[in-house]
Amino acid sequence: MLMQLQAYDINLVYKNGSEMYIADALSRAFPPEIIPERFIHLMSSESYVTHRKLQAIKDEIHTNETMQLLVKQIQDGWPDHKILVPSEVQPYYPYRQELTTEGGLIYKAHNILIPPSLQADTLQKLHQSHQGIEKTKRLARESIFWPGMNSQIEELVSNCSTCLHHTSANQREPLHPHEIPSRPWQKVGTDLFDWNGKPHLIVVDYYSQYPEVSELRNTKARTVINKTKSIFSRHRIPESVVSDNGPQYSSEEYKQFANNHKFIHNTISPRYPQSGGLHEKTVQTVKNLEKCKVANQDPYLALLDYRNTPIDGITPAQALMSRRLRSPLPISQRKLNPKPVNRTTFHAACQQQQQQQRKHYDHTAKSLPPLEKGDAVRFKKDPQAAWTHGTVIQKHEAPQSYVIKSENRTEYRRNRRHLRKTRKHQADLDTPDIDDPQDPIPQPTTNAERNSIQIPIAPNPPQLKTSRYGRRINQNPNYKTCTNGA
Ligand SMILES: [Zn+2]
Repeated sequence: MLMQLQAYDINLVYKNGSEMYIADALSRAFPPEIIPERFIHLMSSESYVTHRKLQAIKDEIHTNETMQLLVKQIQDGWPDHKILVPSEVQPYYPYRQELTTEGGLIYKAHNILIPPSLQADTLQKLHQSHQGIEKTKRLARESIFWPGMNSQIEELVSNCSTCLHHTSANQREPLHPHEIPSRPWQKVGTDLFDWNGKPHLIVVDYYSQYPEVSELRNTKARTVINKTKSIFSRHRIPESVVSDNGPQYSSEEYKQFANNHKFIHNTISPRYPQSGGLHEKTVQTVKNLEKCKVANQDPYLALLDYRNTPIDGITPAQALMSRRLRSPLPISQRKLNPKPVNRTTFHAACQQQQQQQRKHYDHTAKSLPPLEKGDAVRFKKDPQAAWTHGTVIQKHEAPQSYVIKSENRTEYRRNRRHLRKTRKHQADLDTPDIDDPQDPIPQPTTNAERNSIQIPIAPNPPQLKTSRYGRRINQNPNYKTCTNGA
């Protein structure tokens, strides 16, 4: 009830009965056994449905027997006991208070109910950006619903081979939480990275976490500045810009640019990516969207999904532009209306989220459970490789270190931080990683551990490396085949 009322701006005024001209509706007491309990859940002008997808949903509701039973049940009202409704409709019983029909569609609050035959296709669309379980669920809860949706998302994402093979080894939460600005596009982070095999510029808003991504013809300072200007003309000139000290950003031209456009330019040391906080993390997230291309999906649609996925209860698009962005996922017209985001509430939510991340970081940094001989794990043969299967053979004498055997019987040694425990006794390649907390925090392995080895090892995850932009690379001497485009 409270959730639904949030959509309205209600102004309650108390008035004495004597001041009322006519009796109000609430004071009319009907005998309860005659009038079934009915609520107005949704007032909507959804009669115009332009979206082909919405039409498909309407057609399905119209022709599917269960859906018709459900529509009838919603219109007739629900009985006091689940057992009294037809068995096909029973899965919907727990949501009865929020279910409504309107314009040939069924809603749960403001979310569109997807009929069973369209759920599989919708799941694929939801996960086209290959975001993690939590983000995919949040994206879904923005606009659609069906009973069991969350568990189906869990199932799909944890078994997605594209995700499993491209899970990043060094997705780390920021160690030093950055200060959250008080307005959109007040402080931005910027960086260059390779996407789709081409150089790209990314500019991320520290307030909304909304990323702008632009392809670059080349990586000259002038090109970077021109693209940045075009982005600034769209969103405003920020008060401060954070970047690393790559040649473009430490150039005289960039200094001039900052002077002319009246913003403060701060550089962070590329050797301490954590100090960059937010934007390093977002660059990594956006870079990860590249895996969609491998799965023959459009990375720009993935970027759209990312902008539409709530981070601190609010999507980046909402935080920046006070509106949701239309995507191939079905969404009610009402949800596309602009609605200002309360800055105070949003700011508080961001801060709370930061604290939770900090707690999670501290917790996972200490508490990866020990592995036993015979445990099934996933590991990387080299930093660029996908996660592959292995089995723990023994614990190595060095602390937190294990000897594991790959499927082709080669032995490797890995630190516990670089091993993900998986479900036992399942040989198929799509075993989900369930037992470990996500994104274990890599820590340096000791020199002693490195030196005592006669088998391939990967002591550290790859550092951020973007050599074509002239930045320093922390290459790991233990990898013979680090392929950096120079
Ligand atoms: Zn995936």
